[in-house]
Amino acid sequence: MQIGFIGLGNMGGPMAANLAKAGHSVTGFDMADVSIEGVSLAKSAAEAAAGADVVITMLPNGDILRHVASEIIPAMTKGAAFVDCSTVDVDSARAVAQQAAEAGLLAVDAPVSGGIGGAAGGTLTFMAGGSEEAFAKAEPLFDIMGQKAVHCGDSGAGQAAKICNNMILGVTMIATCEAFALADKLGLDRQKMFDVVSTSSGYSWTMNAYCPAPGVGPQSPADNDYQPGFAADLMLKDLRLSQQAAGSADADTPMGKLAEALYSQFVDKEDGKGKDFSAMLPRFEKRGRS
Ligand code: NAD
Repeated sequence: MQIGFIGLGNMGGPMAANLAKAGHSVTGFDMADVSIEGVSLAKSAAEAAAGADVVITMLPNGDILRHVASEIIPAMTKGAAFVDCSTVDVDSARAVAQQAAEAGLLAVDAPVSGGIGGAAGGTLTFMAGGSEEAFAKAEPLFDIMGQKAVHCGDSGAGQAAKICNNMILGVTMIATCEAFALADKLGLDRQKMFDVVSTSSGYSWTMNAYCPAPGVGPQSPADNDYQPGFAADLMLKDLRLSQQAAGSADADTPMGKLAEALYSQFVDKEDGKGKDFSAMLPRFEKRGRS
């Protein structure tokens, strides 16, 4: 297949590399100066999208997605699929899918879970929204970049699933970090804390796969001075999306709301901007009870 890939950052870069490694012809574009193994680079998003069977976007947010979509949709061939893997609001996902449908394209919103490790290892989970036909066209590519793809429903359903998943993730990371900081103050060795919790009822992805304590558990951004990984400001974006969605759906999400407030404090008022979202641990370490 000829694939256009726009947004070659922490996630998009390794995802595009895996498609190229599997034998697809991948043309990429990113605003930043990047180099991805096996991927030829275009000078614009429209150039990367022209003539592609499938165009994949992996961008920071819904506004950027809408902007890029308006550039690439007119350049795409009728019948091609537009697969957006970014995490964005449901309204942006539906608006872009509608615009794509009007241009005779297939559209799938397919945000992912699994982090940079999953992107590099080809073990992401895709949660997809769109028609059966659009999902079927994208599915072979999901199989290369991931280990599981769930067709959640019509356009926007993938983003709805992602927002709920990441609300759990944000809440769980905070719980894991505050527990480590408490354990420190109680004199517990961090490795012992990991050995117990990772095999007890407190286990979670944030503890077992993405441990926020340096030198403990599998390799994670904590071992790289909290360079992202998954940036705290992207976590904040997702928590805001969950609270926006909870507001419009009249859902009571008190833990999600508190997680949003804590990440907002960390990113907007403290030193969390540009750090991985697991840098909540050094934040809690520095703090006392009041
Ligand atoms: P990133 O910032 O590393 O990558 C985004 C890329 O988009 C950057 O390279 C940037 O230069 C590029 N970009 C921005 N505007 C552009 C434009 N107009 N045209 C072309 N390129 C443009 O972010 P990331 O961590 O790769 O995340 C991408 C998306 O994936 C986000 O929506 C995020 O929420 C989601 N996500 C991230 C993770 C993670 O662990 N990092 C996990 C799941 C989902």
